[in-house]
Amino acid sequence: VSERLDKDGKWKVTTFNTSVKMSTYVTAFAICDYGYVNTTYNGIEIRVWADKASISKGEADYALNITGPILAYFEEYYNLSYPLPKLDIMALPDYGSTAMENWGLLMFKQDSLLYHPKMKLIERSSISAIVAHELAHQWFGNLVTMRWWNDLWLNEGFASYFENLNIAVEDTVEKLKLQYPLHLQYNVFHSETNSPSQSLTMKKEDIKTFDKIMGMFSDTTYYKGAAIIHMVSNFMTEELFAKGIRSYLKTFSYSNAVTDDIWDHLQMAIDSQDAIKLPASIKSIMDPWTMQKGVPVIRVNTLRGIITQEPYAKSAENRISTFSWFIPISWIKNGSVQPLFWLERKRKIFSKIKRTTDEEWILLNINISCLCRIIYDDSNWHQLILQLNKDPAVIPVANRVHIINDAFELERDGYIDIKIALSATTYLAEEKHSKVWSTALVHFMKLQSVLKTTYTYGLYKKYIASKIVPFYHYQMKLINEDFNNIQIGTISIISAVLETMCLLDLKDFVDRATSLYSQLMNNPANNTIPNYIRNVIYCEAIKAGTDKEWNFAWTLYLNHTSMEEDDDLLIAMSCSREPWILNRYLYYTLDDSMISPEHSFVVYRSVAQNLIGWPLVWNFIRANLNVIETNSTYYFGLTSLFYILSEGLLTDFEFQEV
Ligand SMILES: [Zn+2]
Repeated sequence: VSERLDKDGKWKVTTFNTSVKMSTYVTAFAICDYGYVNTTYNGIEIRVWADKASISKGEADYALNITGPILAYFEEYYNLSYPLPKLDIMALPDYGSTAMENWGLLMFKQDSLLYHPKMKLIERSSISAIVAHELAHQWFGNLVTMRWWNDLWLNEGFASYFENLNIAVEDTVEKLKLQYPLHLQYNVFHSETNSPSQSLTMKKEDIKTFDKIMGMFSDTTYYKGAAIIHMVSNFMTEELFAKGIRSYLKTFSYSNAVTDDIWDHLQMAIDSQDAIKLPASIKSIMDPWTMQKGVPVIRVNTLRGIITQEPYAKSAENRISTFSWFIPISWIKNGSVQPLFWLERKRKIFSKIKRTTDEEWILLNINISCLCRIIYDDSNWHQLILQLNKDPAVIPVANRVHIINDAFELERDGYIDIKIALSATTYLAEEKHSKVWSTALVHFMKLQSVLKTTYTYGLYKKYIASKIVPFYHYQMKLINEDFNNIQIGTISIISAVLETMCLLDLKDFVDRATSLYSQLMNNPANNTIPNYIRNVIYCEAIKAGTDKEWNFAWTLYLNHTSMEEDDDLLIAMSCSREPWILNRYLYYTLDDSMISPEHSFVVYRSVAQNLIGWPLVWNFIRANLNVIETNSTYYFGLTSLFYILSEGLLTDFEFQEV
């Protein structure tokens, strides 16, 4: 508020406003020579700070524009104003974590905050998610702090749940209703099965040392925390959930809370009405989710009407456990939604779930409302898949994504047969939804890398082509057969489809790519191929072409127009089908005036991904190890070279050789 020189004129004395009562770990000062952009939103001054060059290039503008609307969204949801008169957000060139929610002075690693037009859409939505996460902390964490680090999920789980926002238009904030639960579910199952997991809340006395406290900042805290909040807000309805949240935040403002406090306030919201009845208290429903590690998988026997649960695990011995969860189960029978029921113990006889005719089918977990995976008996899988083939629209989009994703993951973890997972994709020629396709393509890519040199690959290619070509034509029609009409929201799905078309060398795409590429060869000064699909267009044209096409790419590369263009070209040049061209390309890397050591690494990796390229890279590296080692130690070590070779490994024989 004021500045003056002290008596002897040596010291400058700065006086600040008295801050609100806050925890020490969210107190921060910044001393810097930065520029800023600012705005006022509902009386709060918002400033985004960064180095002056970034500010003058407008890179802080995106963060500035989204902050006010997100803040307003939270103020309304929590029914509590942001208590400070100002909000500063600062981009730091280097920072220990992605971002930190210091009260009124958010600090970000600059890549997580600054935006320039060349960035991909996904990078932009990650900026808005991180900004939303840190802003949610102004309430969950700063206004109400967990009493000790053993309850860290009260900060991080809630902030992660509330980062689930989409800034569709610059000033509208809405929830990612479809994508978010899928993303959470995927991440929770991934982290709970791949790393040694711990329960969400721990005993206070077990979290005393610095290492133990840091260990609480785990995927479990963030993802599982957010996922169980999503589950609660689903079974108690979002309206009651918001009511409970508001009274929790109000009661514990400028103070501390423990896990039971949140359950108490959600319980009060439940007790205040009659429409929603729960089979037990919120605390008894939720304790198994916070106090036990792991997540459940549910087995449904629709022939006998029996449901059982067990911990989801890769190895059979970890599936045997006394753990059980209180699970809300939403379900559909033959296309009609049934009343929610609860699985409160390990095994339950539930006759309504019994199928009485062969044609009936049962689907559990509508719109991913519980944190669980479902295994059906074979005959129900079969009926579900028949229904998908008959009329997929009867099954909600989120569940169509879920069926495909879970079937492949359940297969990978040894729960079901690959035949079921593949059968779940038989209807895809009729599927038009991008989200379902982007999930299916992830699993097809994994299959592709396993099958690409086996004798079944021909059949596999034919099968995938029969599914993806209709979707490709559907997308092409949407953009009026012109890649320049791609809308920002569909870039990622179209790129993924084209990548698959390119891998499979499907004729329509080969023709399109070669024609665009030859237009470019005729008029290199005017490149009309949109940035985000150049990699696949170049790759396909070089694959289908001769050394003429390759040499043209090489001259483009030597211009070094931009980093992105260099990367696209380096990868595309590895797509050639001519061993002599690929070998020549590898030898270019030995001369750093042709290909710099950092780019050489891209060359080795992408040639090794090429079906005929792997043995060439393997031989090349062995023959030139000494030169590569001296040229490149600064940029990459030998371990990373062997890593890229291992990525392309196809057979046990090659594995033994490496
Ligand atoms: Zn956080």
